This record gives sequence, structure tokens and C-alpha cells, in this order.
Amino acid sequence: MKKIEIISATPQLLESPFSGSIMKRAVDKKIVQINFHDLKNFSSSKKKQIDDYQFGGGSGMVLMIEPIFNCINFLKKNDKYSEVIYMTPDAPILDQKTSNKLSISGNLIIICGHYKGIDQRIRDNFVTMEISIGDYVLSGGELPAAVLCDSIVRLIPGVLNDETSALTDSFQDNILAPPVYTRPSSFNEMEVPAVLLSGDQKKIENWREKKSFEKTKKIRPDLLSK
Ligand code: SAH
Repeated sequence: MKKIEIISATPQLLESPFSGSIMKRAVDKKIVQINFHDLKNFSSSKKKQIDDYQFGGGSGMVLMIEPIFNCINFLKKNDKYSEVIYMTPDAPILDQKTSNKLSISGNLIIICGHYKGIDQRIRDNFVTMEISIGDYVLSGGELPAAVLCDSIVRLIPGVLNDETSALTDSFQDNILAPPVYTRPSSFNEMEVPAVLLSGDQKKIENWREKKSFEKTKKIRPDLLSK
């Protein structure tokens, strides 16, 4: 079973994304184990201090090296990890290729930053991979970690009921997914494309490919040149 360990200063922020839908199902099915680690439990100071002012001055606190170091060490004593990932905006942006790769890798440690970020020495010496979820800044790494986990977990074989369904999502072939419809086929004179009701699987496949291509060309032409 794949293990994902998430290190956070505010682990309560992680709870809800993992408490329903596909991620919960994957945990319940024992396909993946996801553990939250509260940095405060790894501080050796009496006050459970985990952040401090930055050297050189300037506003904003920085998560200290020691609690993160202690937590990583604690985890590595019991298990082997393929990657130690730090969620951070100043990193390559997450894409489906990365999620595919991480879905078949071994155990993962994910570090969530807070405030101004984490002490650079953790990044330089212990982090093996840095991931951003987009060109904008959030207050903490918890939502980014949940985004990363969701994108990974749904790709692990056995998690989605219909195993092919992840393969037909956007980005798997550098192309966006075609439009989808469900019942009723007619609603207030808004009709579902007739081809989808034709039962002709070959025709449907061609129509979907065409729609995917048109959509990608219009919205994300950059994908087509990949
Ligand atoms: N001072 C940093 C931003 C810190 S934001 C900078 O300017 O680069 C606080 C924390 O939120 C970060 O440590 C990181 O863990 C998380 N975070 C914020 N935006 C993110 C993004 N786009 N992708 C991944 N993590 C992000």
C-alpha cells in the first residue's frame, strides 16, 4: 500500500478534502494510506515553537528547520520514500505527467509551507522535488497538497471503478476532454447531439475526437504542440 505523509503547521486544514469522494474511497479500500503530521509535535522547544522571524529582517514568519527535520527523520526511520516534495509557488507547475509518475512511485512525503515559507536549508538538503499548483500565491501548502494528492490518488490502479475513465480525462494525451451529456436528451428544447444517441460507437468515437481537438485548438493550443 502506497503511503503519503503530509507535514503541516495547520493539519486541520487538510481534513475536509480527504473526507469524501475518491480520496476517501481509496483510503477505505486500503489502496493508499494518507497521514497528517502536525509540526508542533516535532518541536523540541517547550512552547512548541515552529516558526520564527527571518534572518536579515523583513516581514513574515518562516517555518523553522528543526521540527521539519525531526518529522522527516521520524518518518524515514520506519519507511522508505521515493520523494520528499515541497509545495511552493516558486517551482515547476503540476501537470498530468507528473501526477502519472507519482501515482506509480513509492511512498511520498509532502511538506506544506506557511507564512513566508520554510527554511531554505530543508529545501536544499532534504527536498527531492518541488511542485507549484499555479502562478498565484496561497496562504499555506495544505490546499496545494490536497490538490496534488487528489490528482495522484485517482490515477492509482483500482481507485476509480472504471479503470479507463482516468485515461479519457483531459491532459492524458495532451488533449482536452470532449463535452459530456446525460439524461434527458431534450430539455427545454436544448438537445443532446444526435450522434451520441445513435448507438454507433465508431461514429461517437470520431465525434469525440473531433470535439476534443477543436476545443484544445481553441482553448489550449499550446497542448497540441507538445
Ligand atoms: N513567500 C513565498 C510564498 C509563501 S506562501 C513566495 O513568495 O514564493 C506560503 C506557503 O503556501 C508556501 O510555503 C507553500 O507551501 C504554499 N503555497 C502558496 N502558493 C502555492 C502554490 N501556488 N503552489 C504550491 N504551494 C503554494
